[in-house]
Amino acid sequence: MAKDFDKERERMVKTQLVGRGIKDKRVLEAMKKVARHLFIPENMRSYAYNDEPLPIGEGQTISQPYIVAYMTEALQLNGSERVLEIGTGSGYQTAILNEIVKEVFTLELIGSLSVKAQEVLKELKYVNIFFKIGDGTLGWKEHAPYDAIMVTAAPAGVPKALKEQLKMYGKMIIPIGATFQELVLVIREKKKFKIKKLLPVRFVPLVSTH
Ligand code: SAH
Repeated sequence: MAKDFDKERERMVKTQLVGRGIKDKRVLEAMKKVARHLFIPENMRSYAYNDEPLPIGEGQTISQPYIVAYMTEALQLNGSERVLEIGTGSGYQTAILNEIVKEVFTLELIGSLSVKAQEVLKELKYVNIFFKIGDGTLGWKEHAPYDAIMVTAAPAGVPKALKEQLKMYGKMIIPIGATFQELVLVIREKKKFKIKKLLPVRFVPLVSTH
């Protein structure tokens, strides 16, 4: 029997997100709406709404739904933002962001993943998403500064270029660390960057090419 993905998605939001304390209405609405299974290779789709990360090819993964929701909520978005995302991957997190904000600029190092994500997001009629294939540790200077930055692969420390491309009082959510990682919220203040440690996590490494 064919799976009822809509029902599964609703259950995912209720048990994995609301049940664990995700409260932001915009985030919950976006997670309810975006068909996560369409971002996952066909042979894995029946697992799309499970409480776990899944492989998307090229040794990369789509994050667990809770982590996607948690990271999005941490940015406290109100809808007017221009957001930089590092690590397009499947494009799922890109879609969630685009449901909420005005524009998303998304960078991916692996060309084939970016191309696939672009196809899926185009098919779903998303506009105001701008793609680039390249090294996200350098950010995307032409469109800076950004109201918010989301990094979905882990570097050893916060890349300098990303700090520079963050607006005053802007927020960046980023996993930091090699073997053990911590999700960190970076807030740009007048004279310094405030760092808040949030949650232990596991991400694929942010590969630096320079
Ligand atoms: N947000 C994605 C998850 C992607 S996993 C999703 O929802 O599916 C992390 C991604 O970061 C991988 O696709 C990996 O190729 C990419 N990546 C790793 N290092 C990078 C870099 N320096 N610049 C841009 N992307 C990078």
